Amino acid sequence: MEKVILLNPYFSHTIWGGKKLRDVFGYDEPGDDIGECWGISAHPSGESFVSCGEFEGKRLSELWNEHRELFGNAEGKAFPLLVKIIDAKDDLSIQVHPDDEYARLHENGAFGKKECWYVLDCPEDAELVIGHNAGTSEELRAMVAEGRWDDLIRKVRVRKGDIIQIDPGTVHSITAGVCLLETQQSSDITYRLYDYDRIRNGKKRELHLQKSFDVITVPAPALSGQIRNCKEQEENSIRKLVSCDRYTVSKVKVSGEFTFKCDAGFVNATVIEGSGRVFDSEVKKGSHMLITADGAKCIRMSGNMELIISYI
Ligand code: ZN
Repeated sequence: MEKVILLNPYFSHTIWGGKKLRDVFGYDEPGDDIGECWGISAHPSGESFVSCGEFEGKRLSELWNEHRELFGNAEGKAFPLLVKIIDAKDDLSIQVHPDDEYARLHENGAFGKKECWYVLDCPEDAELVIGHNAGTSEELRAMVAEGRWDDLIRKVRVRKGDIIQIDPGTVHSITAGVCLLETQQSSDITYRLYDYDRIRNGKKRELHLQKSFDVITVPAPALSGQIRNCKEQEENSIRKLVSCDRYTVSKVKVSGEFTFKCDAGFVNATVIEGSGRVFDSEVKKGSHMLITADGAKCIRMSGNMELIISYI
């Protein structure tokens, strides 16, 4: 069995996207509006596919459906996770995602969307929108109806290296200048609460107010403990960033040679800094890969690099 399978990403062009995914990460993608790189995705909205080796050209969903042994025979109809790099040249819409139960009932059985962000880069004074200040559902609806966005949204200072968990029901927005790696459930369901009245191709993007009100957690939970800075790390170590019922996300720092094991059927990995090798495959900043069941038992890396890994 192949131990590591390199993946080619899918790119999404958006109203708020920029050029960093090409200029900083080196992806060969044209355009000045590249918002998202879906590096590890089996979602029908945008799939990654195998770039070389025995399975070259296969989509990740095909691997999941036809070669479940690669994933340690993990259960489930669909590959459960999605790993993206997001470059926000402009603010994203203010949005919220449903949980699994709401998505199952209202979105044709889709997964809900729990996600977490690792901040790769951001301006000195960057703030993200995380949560809101409404005390009751009535107050939330009134503030939205009256357009009192500054009063409603909760802004939080962030730094490079911060890890932030965004549970379903959390009002959130990534803001201009922030570049982050998102690990999420494999879902593309976003309810837009506000889009700054921006116009593209002559019209505003659709809002989803009723569904947003259905799923927003009111009042928003306090933020304490939800943001941690995890930039610094010892060489040749794994640092756990987030562990919840849907995924575990860790950061790996390699300097020279590093071997470790993961107690998982498969591991997603993205190089966020530097370059080196994973087993015998050459990788560099921006490389995305699946480490198979065979590889996860004893993962061998070398070089000088940092990776974000995730597994269920
Ligand atoms: Zn989101």
